[in-house]
Amino acid sequence: MRMAIYPGSFDPLTNGHLDIIQRASKIFDRVVVAVAKNESKSSLFSISQRQELVTRCVGHLPNVEVDTFTGLLVNYAERHGTDVIIRGLRAVSDFEFEFQMALMNRKLNEHVETIFMMPKDTYTFLSSGLVKEIARLGGDVGAFVPVPVREALASVFAPVPSQTTV
Ligand code: ADP
Repeated sequence: MRMAIYPGSFDPLTNGHLDIIQRASKIFDRVVVAVAKNESKSSLFSISQRQELVTRCVGHLPNVEVDTFTGLLVNYAERHGTDVIIRGLRAVSDFEFEFQMALMNRKLNEHVETIFMMPKDTYTFLSSGLVKEIARLGGDVGAFVPVPVREALASVFAPVPSQTTV
């Protein structure tokens, strides 16, 4: 049984993340998407909202589960009996941080292997941060995120009805 963990903030899930999850689900028997409760990052969606959104978007992938975690990723991986971590690489700009992270995780647990996967080229420019910014400014994010995420963003950034004075 080959199992892998795909960790991240997923604040919120984008089509780029989903693309990586789909690719991983073809290679591994079981993929656990692990939504991080990162104390040092302030997030738009709560951990339970992020988990719920990912869960709703991966329903068509029977070998994918969604979980949350706090603390060190290598400890979480060990508790789940796997030493494979998947990360997505969009561009050279991701490389330095991901490289450092992968080597640090290996230092913390020498059995852990990080596997990098590349998304479809049309998703390489996508980030949760950009998607949130576009949604905040009233732009259409329909091409960048699955429908449940689009709806969740719309409800957060719903335009405030302008006040009419009689
Ligand atoms: P983190 O805060 O841990 O970087 P993210 O949710 O931003 O979490 O991303 C999780 C993983 O998915 C990271 O490896 C990141 O590089 C990757 N990723 C993010 N956006 C994309 C995308 N558009 N295509 C492929 N991988 C992506």
